[in-house]
Amino acid sequence: MALVIPAPATTTIPVAGGGEFPVRRIFCVGRNYADHVREMGGDPDREEPFFFTKPTDAIVPNGAEVHYPTKTKNYHHEIEMVVAIGKGGKNIPVAQALEHVFGYGVGLDMTRRDLQQEAKNMGRPWDLSKGFDNSGPCSELHPAAKVGHIEKGAIWLEVNGKVRQTSQLEKMIWSVPETISYLSDYVELAAGDVIFSGTPDGVAAVVAGDKLHGHVDGLTDLKITIV
Ligand code: MN
Repeated sequence: MALVIPAPATTTIPVAGGGEFPVRRIFCVGRNYADHVREMGGDPDREEPFFFTKPTDAIVPNGAEVHYPTKTKNYHHEIEMVVAIGKGGKNIPVAQALEHVFGYGVGLDMTRRDLQQEAKNMGRPWDLSKGFDNSGPCSELHPAAKVGHIEKGAIWLEVNGKVRQTSQLEKMIWSVPETISYLSDYVELAAGDVIFSGTPDGVAAVVAGDKLHGHVDGLTDLKITIV
């Protein structure tokens, strides 16, 4: 079949040790750390997880300069562990969910917080507050086959050398296996899908010139600069 325009490029994330992980879809978990639920004015009782998505080309490589986005005056960081799916499936049991994980990375769910608040107030979708250009910086992925499954340890973000967010992965309300299982009841997961697993408290605004340094124990640190 002849394509009438050039096919879009496949977004990839480099893999530590070699190779590139092709990205199919990006799912993000909302409100997955109780302290962040509270700071956003919510009730951290264990409500069902919910998801939103970003386009695959939201991915930005480690070390990049990220342009401050248009149409916002409140551009926020959300440090998150990223889970890359290597084997698809639907209705995946929690006990088998980690078998579907290729590896892990450090990501930022960058957010136009003012647009998100307006969307919440008006009952509108979050797409343009969450799924805009360059809204998903992500470090190299580390294969679970090499580093194991990342289920506990520190997650933090510094901006210009000062700690903004710091927490522990084990504080996630929904664990990675639970999240995969739950999401796979809604969509058939496929190799190449990526899940941003939610952010701890401390989300705040950044401006041009800020240097962001994100960390999850056991993974490669993510560093980007806002320009
Ligand atoms: Mn998030």
